[in-house]
Amino acid sequence: MEHDIKHLYIGGEYVAPHSASRIEVVNPANGQRIGSIVDGDATDVARAAEAADRAFRTSGWAELTPKDRAAYIRRLADAYVERGAEMARLVSSENGMPISFSRLVHEERPARYYRYFAGVADTLELEHTRPTSTGYAIVRREPIGVAGLIIPWNGPQGLIAWKLGPALAAGCAVVIKPSPETTLDAFLLSEAIEQAGFPPGLINIVSGGPETGQALVDHPLITKIAFTGSSATGKIIAARAGAQLKPVTLELGGKSAAILLDDADLEEFGARILEVCLPNTGQQCTACTRVLAPRDKYDQVVELATEVLARVPVGDPADPKSVFGPLVSARQRARVESYIAAGLREGARLTTGGGRPAGLEDGCYVEPTVFRDVSNDMRIAREEIFGPVLSIIPYDGEEEAIAIANDSTYGLSGAVFSRDVDHATDVARRLQTGTVGVDQFSIALEAPFGGYKESGLGRELGPESVDAYLRTKTIYRAGSAPSA
Ligand code: NAD
Repeated sequence: MEHDIKHLYIGGEYVAPHSASRIEVVNPANGQRIGSIVDGDATDVARAAEAADRAFRTSGWAELTPKDRAAYIRRLADAYVERGAEMARLVSSENGMPISFSRLVHEERPARYYRYFAGVADTLELEHTRPTSTGYAIVRREPIGVAGLIIPWNGPQGLIAWKLGPALAAGCAVVIKPSPETTLDAFLLSEAIEQAGFPPGLINIVSGGPETGQALVDHPLITKIAFTGSSATGKIIAARAGAQLKPVTLELGGKSAAILLDDADLEEFGARILEVCLPNTGQQCTACTRVLAPRDKYDQVVELATEVLARVPVGDPADPKSVFGPLVSARQRARVESYIAAGLREGARLTTGGGRPAGLEDGCYVEPTVFRDVSNDMRIAREEIFGPVLSIIPYDGEEEAIAIANDSTYGLSGAVFSRDVDHATDVARRLQTGTVGVDQFSIALEAPFGGYKESGLGRELGPESVDAYLRTKTIYRAGSAPSA
């Protein structure tokens, strides 16, 4: 079925765009066209920003109690679940995510995020009084206004929920700018938004590419930006938002390390390589694509990783048996292949993969790939590849392992494997990274997620995530605070 979306979602209506420009949507598994979307321009963005600003100021949403807002967020979760199976299939056809993984992350999980943020709203305290040296103060937290949410293609619905849930809980209005590769699913979400009965204009969707995103960042009625995407784009956004002193939350790229300590259970690591090191065909920001192995176990680790990667079922993402699918686009495949060439040029050696899998020439596939003899100064160890490529680096002694892990411009995730979990936890404490797992890596919605260094600014998830959509006001009063 082709999906040609000719509208934007603004002010609670599907409206014709000002822009006449369109973007084709192609299934990366077979190169077939699956639809097209509007490439919104600055006028479209301004319309959405104005509609959101109006809803923020006049709909009464910001004045509702957080608990009342939670009821809407729960209705959104229910409406999402009704579309969950279709959402999982649609995203899989847009970005090539294998359907088994897409079901896991797109069928119910975003609804779980929405319910979690509804729970956070239930107990959100927005005002308290405290004694001061001149009397007392009422300290209030107020919604920040209209948030611009800019989303990448690799996990679109979860990453919308991470922002939309807390923004709504805080009392904000939003304009969502999905990635051009994954916009069809955003317009399935708009149906759920309609069904949940939010005030018109509270949630708007403007599709388009980088220029649409830039117009959103620049628009003066957008008072906060929450962005997930590459570090390069994050820096541009931070600079432009900085020109208006507009707060930003940035969830960016990574080049994380999985450290196998001397006593690591290698069998356990082997069972977890795919989820820790190359989830979503390696197209996930948290992928621990650097594996650090003690030199005396190096060959054993290389052999293990090679064996696991060489037998990963790669194929049509619509086939439930496929564990890896294609990359999101021909451009992304070219990028991954250029890194494989760079690895070889710099002296790393392939133990499996490196090419395109036979029989899948119509899609943007790259074989699961393992490099050995990698040193941490090679490009394949320093730069985010965003594909199924693992770099295995030897180390001598735990101090060196920690130093190598920390020697990165990024700091998003990480994992430490050891039979001694307390010792692994101590090593985790020394890593310059925003999140790290012991004998695993899995994001939990109750705890803050985000990066150090060039992996980002601010945190999403956990109750703290709502703070990013609030600002604080102090009202000074003389006398003493009335007793509660
Ligand atoms: P990208 O930075 O190219 O694009 C992300 C979004 O920003 C898209 O919607 C795009 O249209 C928009 N955009 C591009 N240029 C813009 C500009 N100048 N101004 C405003 N908006 C602009 O990233 P991508 O290729 O879509 O996604 C992959 C990247 O996302 C990887 O680097 C990955 O690590 C990162 N990522 C990070 C997280 C995280 O939580 N840290 C999660 C998923 C993905």
